[in-house]
Formats: sequence, structure tokens, C-alpha cells
Amino acid sequence: MKLTSIDNIKKVLKNKPLKKLGQNFLINEEVIEKLISAAEINDGDKVLEIGPGVGALTEKLTEKATVIAVEKDSRLIDHLKEMESKSLTVLRADFLNVSLEKYLQSNYKVVSNLPFNVATPIIRKLLKENPPSLIVVIVQKEVAQRIESKGEKENFLSTIIKFRGEPEIVSTIPKNNFWPSPEVDASILKITPHSKYSKKEEEFSNLFFKVVEAGFLHPRKQIKNNLTGLNNFSKENIENILINLNIDPKKRGEDLNLDDWIRVTDKYLTLNKKENKII
Ligand code: SAM
Repeated sequence: MKLTSIDNIKKVLKNKPLKKLGQNFLINEEVIEKLISAAEINDGDKVLEIGPGVGALTEKLTEKATVIAVEKDSRLIDHLKEMESKSLTVLRADFLNVSLEKYLQSNYKVVSNLPFNVATPIIRKLLKENPPSLIVVIVQKEVAQRIESKGEKENFLSTIIKFRGEPEIVSTIPKNNFWPSPEVDASILKITPHSKYSKKEEEFSNLFFKVVEAGFLHPRKQIKNNLTGLNNFSKENIENILINLNIDPKKRGEDLNLDDWIRVTDKYLTLNKKENKII
């Protein structure tokens, strides 16, 4: 069955695509080829696919790789289970709530056409817990551009991505390559891990995510106010910490660069150890 045909997608769905699950299915084989080629899939690679949908990308991935596909929509599971083989395991789960330790220990790639509405928490989870050796995903074009841009204002997603790797836009995918067509165009985003902070311990990484998360919690608030929510330091204490690091406490999260966040995390870690506290 040609899984990029709109008629076949409708048949498998038996009902309407769900906007709340970000269901925009790929209807162009060339885009699938582009994703696979960007992911440099080699024989025997382990690949995690989040949101296989009707399995158009999944089918191509299994030609070379061993795939774990996690799908939230129960209406698609019977069809996906029929595709299972020794190269494909299908799990019915919300990726945001599932533990994949049993299936993926290390050295795996992520290749997915992500549901746009939860792309940020999905990428956050991927980078925080057990980062893959490569991520190639379709996200909204503006989201990808904001992540790739250099020297401009950062956001939560661009900061955590640059902590773990080098982002690169592989190509733009016009919205008519999906059914139903989304409101905006999309991009293939590739994140290649770097080892810049690999010497830092897990304790540092965990704290880094907490600090950046707190720093961006209310993007319009000043950094000193956002960081107050993180621990028991007083606002005055936090102001002093930031001034000592040469960071203006009145700045907003978007004004800090990766190096600033690294220095704030380093400082918090030292203070934590000194005061025997856990943030
Ligand atoms: N891979 C298919 C394709 O490219 O045609 C479908 C991609 S569609 C953009 C996103 C898919 O993710 C849908 O199948 C949707 O049901 C699924 N999905 C949405 N939220 C999810 C979640 N939290 N966990 C797992 N799958 C999810």
C-alpha cells in the first residue's frame, strides 16, 4: 500500500486527522528520502521515530535500520502493528510520558516528522534524558530558523539545542507536502551533537536544564525574577551572583547567550556544593 497517498491515509485513519495531535502526514516520497539521507542511515542503525502516523517514513527507515516507533493515536495502532517485523517495534504511548530505557540505551538516531504542537517538549526530553547520536526532524520553518540563527535573541529551545549540538537547516518543506496542509511551511532540522561540554558531569547537565527552564519560565520577566523560583536564594543574592558574572540582572532570558547560562549553572553548582543544597 502506498502510504503517502491521501486516499490510503484516509482509509487507515477511518476518521478525521486530529489537529490536537499535530497530524500532518507526509505525502511526498522525496521529502522522506531527504530525511533519510540527512540522517545518514547505515545498515544496523537504531532509530527512534516519534509519531509514525500511518508509517510512510517508518517503512523506508526499516529498509536499513532497526526502528522503535512511538505513536499516541490508538486509531493507528492496529495498522502499525501489522507492519511490525524484526526491524520494527511499535509502541502505543505518549512519547512525553514513556520510558524507552528498555529499548534504547545509547547510540541511536531520531528521525521524525514531529507533531508541531509538542515539538519543543519532545526535543527537550530527547536532549535532557539520553541524548541520541543524531536528530533529524521536521519542525515548523520559523522554529527551525530561530534555532539556527546565530548572534540573535535565543529562546529556551535554541539554548538547550546549542548546549548539546550544532543545529542546521537541511531544507525547507513547503506546506503542500503534507496532508492536511499545515498553516505554515516546515523545515528539516538536523542536530549533530558536539562534545563541547561532554567533560561536564551529569549533575551539571541536570542543573543546566533546570536553570535555563527557570530563566525562560516567564520570557517577559527579568532574569533575576525568574531565577528566584529555582531555589531559596533571595532576589538580592541572585542579583549579586549575576553582577559578579558580569550579567545584567535586569536582562531577559532571551538576552543571555549559551556561555552566560553555562556560567550561571557553574556558579549555582559551586554554591550548591558549598551549602550542601540540592536545587
Ligand atoms: N510520521 C508521519 C508522517 O510523517 O506522515 C506522521 C507525522 S504527524 C506530523 C505527527 C504524528 O505524531 C501523528 O501520527 C500523531 O498522532 C503523533 N503524535 C502526536 N503527539 C504524540 C505524542 N505525544 N507521542 C507520540 N506520538 C504523537
